[in-house]
Amino acid sequence: MAVRKKSNWVERLFELDKFVFEKVIIEQEVIDAIVELAEQTYPKEFIAFLEGKVKNKVLRIYRLNYQEYIANPSYTVYKMDFPITSDIVGTVHSHPGPSNRPSKADLQSFSKKGIVHLIISMPYSSSTIQAYDMNGNMIDYEVA
Ligand SMILES: [Zn+2]
Repeated sequence: MAVRKKSNWVERLFELDKFVFEKVIIEQEVIDAIVELAEQTYPKEFIAFLEGKVKNKVLRIYRLNYQEYIANPSYTVYKMDFPITSDIVGTVHSHPGPSNRPSKADLQSFSKKGIVHLIISMPYSSSTIQAYDMNGNMIDYEVA
């Protein structure tokens, strides 16, 4: 009995750990895919989910989860269904303009759709991708 209890306790800690991170690393392939999708979808916005994992307080984003959908700039994020996979940690979307700051609608959806969110603005490149936390605060990331 004692052993069983301890095991459950550790599992619960591990679940919490899933959302605790001090550093974000985005894999180069994910960055490349974001730039490519933003260009292909222009002049519309594209949106995708980010798949990642937290290990040793490092959140590593390793894949885009992209679904085709009918774009409407004013409510793209709300129209998306949350994919059925456990590794979704946030979203990425493009702005067909020069600003990569989140809109009011973006901020509302950030808090519901994960813990890290990326916005890429024009001209689409790795240097115009900005990361935000679920409250819309800018966060740094590394590419690796
Ligand atoms: Zn936006």
